[in-house]
Amino acid sequence: MRRVLALTGASRGLGAAVAVEAARQGFDLVLNARDEARLEDVAAACRAQGAQTRLVVGDIAAADTAPALIRAAQEHFGRVDALVHNAGVLPPLAPVAEADLGAWQHNWAVNFFAAVRLLQAALPALREQRGRAVLVSSGAAVHPYPTWGAYGTAKAALNHLAGVVAAEEPLVTVVAFRPGVVDTDMQALIRSQGAGVMPPALHVRFLAYWQEGRLQPPAAVARPLVAVARAAPPSWSGAFVAYDEARVQALLAAG
Ligand code: NAP
Repeated sequence: MRRVLALTGASRGLGAAVAVEAARQGFDLVLNARDEARLEDVAAACRAQGAQTRLVVGDIAAADTAPALIRAAQEHFGRVDALVHNAGVLPPLAPVAEADLGAWQHNWAVNFFAAVRLLQAALPALREQRGRAVLVSSGAAVHPYPTWGAYGTAKAALNHLAGVVAAEEPLVTVVAFRPGVVDTDMQALIRSQGAGVMPPALHVRFLAYWQEGRLQPPAAVARPLVAVARAAPPSWSGAFVAYDEARVQALLAAG
C-alpha cells in the first residue's frame, strides 16, 4: 500500500522537487500552495510517477488551510503517514530596529504558526501510523544573520517546536530539517532584494554561492528530505537534521 504525505509549499522550488521525489518513493500526496496552475503541473509530474494526488489551494497563513489539507488526506486516502511543512517566506529583510511588525507577523504565520496548525490537525492521524513530521528549517535558525530577524527567529522557533512535540508525542517522529542552500526563487530574492539592505559581506556570500555554482539543485535536497519523511527512526525525534549529515546519507543508502 502507498503511504500518504501532506506537503506545503509544493508549487515550486524545494517543495515541488519533494513532491515528485515522494511520488517516486511510493507516497500518494496532498499538496498545498497558493498558485493553482503551478500546483497542477507538479501534481501531473507526481501522477507520472504513479502517485494519486489531491490539491488544497490556499494561503497556509489562513486558519482553515492547514486543517483542510489534513482533512483532504483523510477523506481521500484514509491516512496520513507523513507531514512536511516546507512553505516558507524570507521577508521582511530589515534590521529589528526598523522592521514592520505586521511583516514579521506574516512571516511567522507562514513559517511557524502554520506548522503549529498543521501538527494540531495531523497528530491524531500521525499517531495511528507511527508517522513522521518534517519541519523545513534553515541554517538561519542557528546563525543570526543581520536583517533576517523575522525569518531566523521563526525558524529557530520551528526547531524548538520539533523538540517540544518530540517530547510530548512518543508515537510520532518530528524533526526540523536543514536543507542547505538550494537553487530556488528564495535564493534569487536574496540576490535581488538583499542588495543595499543586507550587510554587504553577507550579500556577497550569497551571490558567490550562485556565481560559483554552489547552490544545491532542489532535486538533490529532495532525496534526503523524503528519506527522512519516510524512514527517520524515532531516536531522531526532536533533532535538527541537515540534508548532508552522514546519518541521512546512511538512510538514503539503506533505501
Ligand atoms: P520558494 O522557492 O520561495 O518556494 C516557497 C514555497 O512556499 C512555494 O511553493 C510557495 O507557493 C509557498 N508559499 C509561500 N508563501 C505561502 C503561503 N502564504 N501559503 C501557501 N504557500 C506559500 O522557497 P524554497 O527555497 O523552495 O524554500 C522551501 C523551504 O526551504 C522554505 O521553508 C525555506 O525557508 C527553506 N529553506 C530554503 C533555503 C534555500 O536556499 N532555498 C535554505 C534554507 C531553508 P505559492 O507562492 O504558490 O503559494
